[in-house]
Amino acid sequence: MGDKRYVGSMIDVEIAYENLINNINYYEKIIRKTQPKSNGSIILQANNCRKKNCRSCPHYVWKIWKSNKGMWSAYAINEPLRHARRKDFSPIAREAIRVAVELIDARAALAKQMAIARRSAVAAQKRLERLRAAHGRALNEAIKGGL
Ligand SMILES: [Zn+2]
Repeated sequence: MGDKRYVGSMIDVEIAYENLINNINYYEKIIRKTQPKSNGSIILQANNCRKKNCRSCPHYVWKIWKSNKGMWSAYAINEPLRHARRKDFSPIAREAIRVAVELIDARAALAKQMAIARRSAVAAQKRLERLRAAHGRALNEAIKGGL
């Protein structure tokens, strides 16, 4: 009885979410392709935490390459654009980083609202089940009688 009516609009939310993820991956590729691995080049890592049912995976981390005595290390940074100001920094990479930063933010905001909506949906479903179980005899008999 009307249990699937909400599905249409929820699919739009899932599509928007997937679209954000796909675009973040797309800009990550541009960021990677437009910078050789060198001192100060910036990468975007998508990490999987391997926690069961994690709704925040992948976790995005910005890193910057540093060479120290011939050893390469990638250090985590919070504000990639601050590290992309150099004159010799690829303008394409800089622009792609700017877009990716925004998209990661949009994705986090959407994920937060989706988690809230999921909790609300569970609560609403429980209310529905409670109300159905608590039908009075008149309503119960009417429904059983094919109303
Ligand atoms: Zn995770």
